[in-house]
Amino acid sequence: MLAILHPNVDESSDEYKLTWETLERLPGIDLRIHTIQGKEQKLTEIYLLGNTQAIDIELVNALPAVERVVRISDEYRVLGRHADTERQTGFSYNGIDFNQETLNVFPGLCAVDNPDNVELMMKTLHELGHTTTRMGAYKPRTNPYSFQGHGKECLPYVFELAGKYGIKVVAMEVMDSSEIDEIDDALEKAGHPTGVMLQIGTRNSQNFALLKAAGRQHKYPVLVKRGFGITLNESLNATEYLASEGNTQVIFCLRGMKSEFGAPHRNMVDFGHVPIIKRLTRMPVCIDPSHSVGTRAIAPDGILDIAHVTAQGITAGANMVLVDFHPNPEEALVDGAQALKLTELSQYLEDVNLAWNTYKKRLAIWN
Ligand code: PEP
Ligand code: MN
Repeated sequence: MLAILHPNVDESSDEYKLTWETLERLPGIDLRIHTIQGKEQKLTEIYLLGNTQAIDIELVNALPAVERVVRISDEYRVLGRHADTERQTGFSYNGIDFNQETLNVFPGLCAVDNPDNVELMMKTLHELGHTTTRMGAYKPRTNPYSFQGHGKECLPYVFELAGKYGIKVVAMEVMDSSEIDEIDDALEKAGHPTGVMLQIGTRNSQNFALLKAAGRQHKYPVLVKRGFGITLNESLNATEYLASEGNTQVIFCLRGMKSEFGAPHRNMVDFGHVPIIKRLTRMPVCIDPSHSVGTRAIAPDGILDIAHVTAQGITAGANMVLVDFHPNPEEALVDGAQALKLTELSQYLEDVNLAWNTYKKRLAIWN
């Protein structure tokens, strides 16, 4: 059971104290508190864990600090929607809203290769009035002899350039909790010129130690990629690991599933699941058209396959797009085959806007 308190409730107020003390006295019930800081208000939720069947809902509802009560199932306890359409979704980070009603696009380098390409990428984004990007420093590679990413060596120039070009959030994958510390150190040394969204890749979607570590830190939001060979339920439980450790700034990313039936795409595109994730959970939903499609192939209509699936995901309500670009894809050290060219960025963003406006028009038709 979940008691949602009035927004901005003061924890030293009499209403709050009376509410908390009454709940604490309920036999066999443990309380767990979660606060969510939105741009305008702070939301406090108290989870009642244990045998809640015997609790009188009306009694909890009548407590002075309580706005309303929701019965929740065990599945996706914190991040789940629990058939409740009114609860807040998402969060704000570094001045940017991430929720089930916003759209944020993160075009950038799959892997950082050199400062010139980082600068070219960020400069182009800046010229287009864009403040979010992806920059992979730590790369999970199938082959141990492939380029593994520059790791912490590249962080100083990535963060400095992000500050120079007004980038507010850089998405980057981590594969070990020590890498979160390295990012922390580098941001500190650079004087926090930008923000970071941690990524947990598809291969680590059941690395429970990493999920817990990313959940224990509450500084950075985390994008969790769907596991490419596990069930949707297992992937969503991965995100709940973060929430159970107190980090509810979590985004779920669809990136295609490993299947021979996916060919000729690199993975079976699963963006039809965007509305399903929104129905099951309160997380913003990201799509990664690059890692799902895997090629720069162009359809007979002249549109890139990657642009086609991007539009499909956005017209279905996706809230974030993580997409690979490179100034010179042939020279990219990782995933050059799927990187779009910088010269294609403004067309791509125009197409994204069109799809987003279409989604909004679709909402008006059905509501
Ligand atoms: C990536 O985004 O760079 C990446 C490796 O993605 P995934 O974990 O989805 O393969
Ligand atoms: Mn990649």
